[in-house]
Amino acid sequence: MVFYRVLCMFNRHRPDRDRVRWTGLNYVADCKVCHQRIRRISKGRWSLLRQSESES
Ligand SMILES: [Zn+2]
Repeated sequence: MVFYRVLCMFNRHRPDRDRVRWTGLNYVADCKVCHQRIRRISKGRWSLLRQSESES
């Protein structure tokens, strides 16, 4: 869906709910739209997972 791809461009991703998992630091998942690895930064808000962020 084109609308969701635009959101991804603005770093607003949609998790695949079946693939969400807890790493001990973050909830991570794959974006349903762009299939990149994402993490939850707040309730209902997901952004791309960067290596540095996965450590803090
Ligand atoms: Zn995405």
